[in-house]
Amino acid sequence: ATPTALLVGTGRGAQLGILIKGPEVLESTRRVDTVVLDKTGTVTTGRMTLHEVYALAGTPEEELLRLAGAVEHASEHPVARAVAAGAERRAGRLPDVAAFVSVPGRGVRGRVEGREVAVGRLHDELPPAAARAVDEAEGNGRTAVVVAWDGEVRGVLAVADAVRETSAEAVAELRRLGLAPVLLTGDNRRVAESVAAAVGIDEVIAEVLPEEKVAVVERLRAEGRTVAMVGDGVNDAAALATADLGLAMGTGTDAAIEAGDLTLVRGDLRVAADAIRLSRRTLATIK
Ligand code: ADP
Ligand code: MG
Repeated sequence: ATPTALLVGTGRGAQLGILIKGPEVLESTRRVDTVVLDKTGTVTTGRMTLHEVYALAGTPEEELLRLAGAVEHASEHPVARAVAAGAERRAGRLPDVAAFVSVPGRGVRGRVEGREVAVGRLHDELPPAAARAVDEAEGNGRTAVVVAWDGEVRGVLAVADAVRETSAEAVAELRRLGLAPVLLTGDNRRVAESVAAAVGIDEVIAEVLPEEKVAVVERLRAEGRTVAMVGDGVNDAAALATADLGLAMGTGTDAAIEAGDLTLVRGDLRVAADAIRLSRRTLATIK
């Protein structure tokens, strides 16, 4: 590849809303045959909202929201933002949290009003009423957030975000370029499958812990696939760096943008297809 042609490709990329780390990046897109898409914030907007509130018997709904919201207020996770904003709207001002701990890919813990509160997927065993609430929430395509304090599960919150308007078209374009799309998420399988169905993806890898996302990319590569990964989160950074080609959503975190080879400035997944088309065309003119 001649440097001039690659630089022309880089300049055209900037016009399309693609920031390319270096001209050599275009070369690595040539053989890509698989595109792994993170769900939250990549295929979906990542702007989640609180929907249903299931308070178990003996727990006032207002208290459930106040304590869960207080702990989530200290977290940047899209689920946490939804819980904190929804709790504030429905239950008023949130109290302070102490001893806050984030458990990546699972949830958060902290002390609020003298209680040890846990929010997220931190419990393996649930009382039947909570298990039913989780089941109903997930059946509706929502992410279920379990709230517990002082060692007892107190309720379940259902949050959800919206699929980006451009995602289904982007997946169709990626397929036309001969790429196999794979949806990868830490979220539960039923939510993942409902998003996958909405955008036309049939290969779904769900309930993956943040540190396991790298292993998934490595496994696909070990199968002989050449992998592009598109992601936005802190938890996607290592996988973006491991993939043959890492594409970061420009609307995402700094960690993802630093780890990626390309940035999709506007957060529009269709531009991922543009990037692959551009690099193929640029490389074709070089022969
Ligand atoms: P994704 O891969 O879709 O970006 P994550 O790996 O960040 O998702 O999170 C996986 C799951 O862990 C979430 O869907 C949620 O159930 C749970 N979780 C993570 N962080 C939190 C939090 N702060 N509060 C509640 N639940 C959380
Ligand atoms: Mg994400």
